[in-house]
Amino acid sequence: MPNENSMSNLPPWILNDGDEAYIATDYLHIIEGRRACWKCKKQTRVIGLGIGEYVHIYDDGRRPRYEIGEDYLDPGEEVHLAWTDREEEIPPKLLRYLKKNYSVKTGYSKTAGTCFANHCDCCGAIQGNWFLFGEPDSPLSSDAYGTELIIRMEQLKIKAIPIEDDLKLNWDLVFCDNDYAYLKYGQFEEVILSDDPENEYVSYEELYRG
Ligand SMILES: [Zn+2]
Repeated sequence: MPNENSMSNLPPWILNDGDEAYIATDYLHIIEGRRACWKCKKQTRVIGLGIGEYVHIYDDGRRPRYEIGEDYLDPGEEVHLAWTDREEEIPPKLLRYLKKNYSVKTGYSKTAGTCFANHCDCCGAIQGNWFLFGEPDSPLSSDAYGTELIIRMEQLKIKAIPIEDDLKLNWDLVFCDNDYAYLKYGQFEEVILSDDPENEYVSYEELYRG
């Protein structure tokens, strides 16, 4: 987690490709759930990405400013669902892990065009990003209440990848009041992407090495 002093003078270029940016600190996440494939009706795994602690950088109209995204409980207790339509926005080492372990790839759908997306484990049909990341009914969404929220979250695997360096990520984030529920009710496990036996926190260099 960067401290305030190190970020008090943000360089103007930090927002060069948008009017806001998110910098993930400490962990990246993979949120794994299941749904019935719309085409073959069989159960298939679907995943989202996630960030926990982060720094939000935005432009107040005059210069870049920042806020540290700690929740009102304890730091690190929330996970926010994330995705990107462009696989080049995912650090290469994480992308290789995702493609090796899940049916994710860049595909094509009539409604969304070319996009990085989940595909059915059984029949290979593309599973729409809009449904998974834009709809409260998604098995990956924490936008549910009471018993329904708990049951939905208990079916999720929350994989946490320790990261050594803070990462600026151009991912689309989904914020919800119930984002504490992923870690409270989901099945937590750590995924170590670092090849360094002395350090389980994967470095920027290792994540982005080609
Ligand atoms: Zn299918």
